[in-house]
Amino acid sequence: MKQKLIAGNWKMNGGLAANEALLHEVQQGLAHALASKHAQVAVCVPAVYLSQVQRLVLGSGIDLGAQDVSAHEHGAYTGEISAAMLKDFAVRYAIVGHSERRQYHAETDAHVALKVQRALSTGVTPIVCVGETLAEREAGMTEVVVKRQLAAVIRANGHCISEIVVAYEPVWAIGTGQTASPEQAQAVHAVLRAQLKSSTVHADHVHILYGGSMNAANAVELLSQPDIDGGLIGGAALKAADFLAIIAVAAR
Ligand code: PEP
Repeated sequence: MKQKLIAGNWKMNGGLAANEALLHEVQQGLAHALASKHAQVAVCVPAVYLSQVQRLVLGSGIDLGAQDVSAHEHGAYTGEISAAMLKDFAVRYAIVGHSERRQYHAETDAHVALKVQRALSTGVTPIVCVGETLAEREAGMTEVVVKRQLAAVIRANGHCISEIVVAYEPVWAIGTGQTASPEQAQAVHAVLRAQLKSSTVHADHVHILYGGSMNAANAVELLSQPDIDGGLIGGAALKAADFLAIIAVAAR
């Protein structure tokens, strides 16, 4: 059975002391939560803390993730961080195309696809976020939007697409306390799985995560859906007890 993947997205939160305290608490509880070995855990942290968190998670079974990666290999791109730089800190995952970056940093589908390409060619696994806004859902455009977003990534990456992680994150559910129902989420995940299947024979191996106000209570039903392979967790990843409770559900 494919292990579920629970990845925390700390966003622009944390600090040296707070990170240490949070990860200490998570690690204390993790041995128990992961006893069944049915879950993988990662934390995607602000870039300035990669070095600190690399040290803190060493040997704990928690993988390290970044929240973005440059589409460029190196050069005159002030403020950007390359995939090779992430590799220097043993980064396994990089979130790419989060709706907050699409919205506040004008990232297009094409730009996201290039970032995915750069991550894959460097051995960093991109967690590719797709998702519709509330207006798009209400207009019946959900499927069209997520398929368009994933299609750009597939076009640019060909058969390597089997190496990505996909995160379905309805924009209206992120940080709002409003979650997609298990049926709504499963329906979109099935669409994404079918789209992957038309491009790779390994589509069943691809983790498709759900993200958007996931907590321990709603995780039970969400994570029992056939095409939901884990979660991308924002707010709840900042509280050890909440994050551990979701991991425990995933590890069942
Ligand atoms: C996210 O930002 O990826 C996310 C899922 O946030 P939240 O869990 O807080 O909705």
